[in-house]
Amino acid sequence: MGRKEKMVQKVKRLMDNRERIRNIGIVAHIDHGKTTLTDNLLAGAGMISEELAGEQLFMDFDEEEQERGITIDAANVSMVHDFDDGEYLINLIDTPGHVDFGGDVTRAMRAVDGAVVVVDAVEGCMPQTETVLRQSIKENVKPTLFINKIDRLINELELSADEMQKKFVSVIKEVNDHITGMIEDEERAKEWKVNVNDGSVAFGSALYNWALSLPYMEQTGITFNDLIQHAKKQEHVELHKKAPLHRVVLNMVIRHLPNPLQAQEYRIPSIWDGDLTRDIGEDMIKANPKGENAFMVTDISVDEHAGEVATGRLFSGSIEEGMNVKINGVPGKNRIQQVGIFMGPERVNVNKVPAGNIVAVTGLKDAIAGSTVSTVEMTPFESIKHISEPVVTIA
Ligand code: GDP
Repeated sequence: MGRKEKMVQKVKRLMDNRERIRNIGIVAHIDHGKTTLTDNLLAGAGMISEELAGEQLFMDFDEEEQERGITIDAANVSMVHDFDDGEYLINLIDTPGHVDFGGDVTRAMRAVDGAVVVVDAVEGCMPQTETVLRQSIKENVKPTLFINKIDRLINELELSADEMQKKFVSVIKEVNDHITGMIEDEERAKEWKVNVNDGSVAFGSALYNWALSLPYMEQTGITFNDLIQHAKKQEHVELHKKAPLHRVVLNMVIRHLPNPLQAQEYRIPSIWDGDLTRDIGEDMIKANPKGENAFMVTDISVDEHAGEVATGRLFSGSIEEGMNVKINGVPGKNRIQQVGIFMGPERVNVNKVPAGNIVAVTGLKDAIAGSTVSTVEMTPFESIKHISEPVVTIA
């Protein structure tokens, strides 16, 4: 079996095991490193070639196939990560950061359960950091923190270890002040604050592909001082080997962000204002693969071969080829043609995908981004009002 086929088998196996799925977004102020982080996570998880990650190119990794060189459309990507207790499927949805795309951000945020908030260590929290945090909290999406561009603190600002730690403390405090200010429930606010000690904070260099967190340091014996010494000597490859970015960040994601079963239980009542005692409400709360379908479309893209592809989060039921479904606000039904999941940035067709996953389907000719798709009449997701952000001017 080729490497690609093996990966497809893995993804298929994991999509049925909801405890081993994480649906996440990476959010950041512009230029804080979201794209670089995403590319290197994908490369680290073996989903795109490491050499091309920096150039933001996707290379099909099947040995038998030719290099393709398609620019990554990072709207939806998935990766398999080998954690301490086995493999996990991590679905990453692009959450546009601009305030003027308020509706898009809300939609994308609704499809994920957790977020990695990237903050540039040199700049600290910026207006958009606050905005994306506010959007994720509003959608009940749990945050973790990645403090990026540590290499610059060492090599450009030449900070001492103490000064660097002070920087971290100040970024963490800023983020936590926002989190606690935005969450009304005191218990939840306490629980969702990010913390170096429990590993919900990681720090590193997305550019040079290394990172650390306290649990990773304890697990491996690597010290903060080791990191500084290697970075000072520009030994980035060596540092990457000892403290690979993808391992540290994806370990944090698995440990601290909820799986769909955990998340849907508390998220559905806050993101959907239909009757929770009706079947579809209960099925969504339980992420029931045997329930009626409740699918929210977050993105429509055009595939050269397959035509329009609607991607989104399946909260309940299982989506299968040939199913007839209703699209909210449109008379009649649409017939689902292909059903796909993501492997890296590539869509792979499967017969059936269960609740809790990010799914890509064709055949939904009447769907638009934001559509609610179901096998029954249901209250649509978009009926929830977007609480509009105050207009922030981005320099
Ligand atoms: P985005 O706008 O958040 O997607 O940011 P990008 O990933 O495009 O990064 C913005 C700029 O910061 C690019 O020039 C990157 O090469 C650079 N950058 C990203 N991460 C790091 C890092 O860890 N260290 C340094 N020195 N530069 C970085």
